[in-house]
Amino acid sequence: MSTETLILDGKAVSDDLKVKLAVKVEQLKAKGVTPCLATILVGDDPASATYVRMKGNACQRLGIESRKIELKASTTTEELIAAIRQLNEDSAVHGILLQHPVPHHIDERAAFDAIAIEKDVDGVTTLGFSQNAFGFADYPSCTPAAIIAIMDYYKLPIEGKHAVVIGRSPILGKPVSMMLLNRNATVTICHSKTNNLGDIVAQGDIVVAAVGKPKFIQGEWIKPGAVVLDAGYNKGNVGDVDYEACAERASAITPVPAGVGPVTIATLLKHTVEAAERTLKS
Ligand code: NAP
Repeated sequence: MSTETLILDGKAVSDDLKVKLAVKVEQLKAKGVTPCLATILVGDDPASATYVRMKGNACQRLGIESRKIELKASTTTEELIAAIRQLNEDSAVHGILLQHPVPHHIDERAAFDAIAIEKDVDGVTTLGFSQNAFGFADYPSCTPAAIIAIMDYYKLPIEGKHAVVIGRSPILGKPVSMMLLNRNATVTICHSKTNNLGDIVAQGDIVVAAVGKPKFIQGEWIKPGAVVLDAGYNKGNVGDVDYEACAERASAITPVPAGVGPVTIATLLKHTVEAAERTLKS
């Protein structure tokens, strides 16, 4: 790795966020409101169970209540939607997170869209996604928001830069592309049908990897001096970027673990606290 490569420390960014959040949680509690995040896990996928547990633990450490709803893998779309509606109507719950992916037989889009917009702290509803695209979402999708938060923490410029995003999922690739566009980057979105991927990535001043394939982004693709943000999280704590090789050429890079992941969780907590604050204003 080049000695000049800046390691974008997600732990530092998330700690900074959490210090500010702890103050807000205390202020809310003094007013009789305990922020509460409800997480819904359908089925017994071990990775999803781990993610939900990590989110619950992070809530507890900050004094945020976490309510875990665990549903069996055979849950129908209708049953899941009914569970979400109950949480929508529960005034003690401020944020709802439906852990993705849900079992294949469930209509995930319908389930996401059942979440009330004021509790959609992960920006997964069609309305939340659209608001983010317009640039005025209260709660943009957490991982995209984490990527932007890391860039802002390190004062890395976005405006005028060519950002290449690899991946176009509705929770990651698309919303982060919109956020970069709204910050005046020129954005290219790549996906599984993109031809000459390496040539396109090589044009990026900013490269966002959101592919779901370990070490997929090659060092030789990276333009010297580019900023590389790795949203990937694969088995064995490996990102979507070939870290060592990309770090040789990048000016700044997020590691995996301790890059985008912890900031994503801190962003979820931030959104939950903000949702609780809004209930006092309404
Ligand atoms: P996803 O829904 O599976 O989407 C993957 C995207 O990558 C798709 O748009 C797909 O293209 C594209 N892709 C697949 N193969 C490709 C190829 N050969 N060339 C170019 N593009 C290709 O995944 P996701 O949910 O967005 O997650 C992406 C990664 O982020 C995963 O590693 C996941 O674990 C991680 N993640 C991390 C966090 C976090 O907190 N750090 C949160 C969420 C996700 P098509 O659209 O054409 O299929």
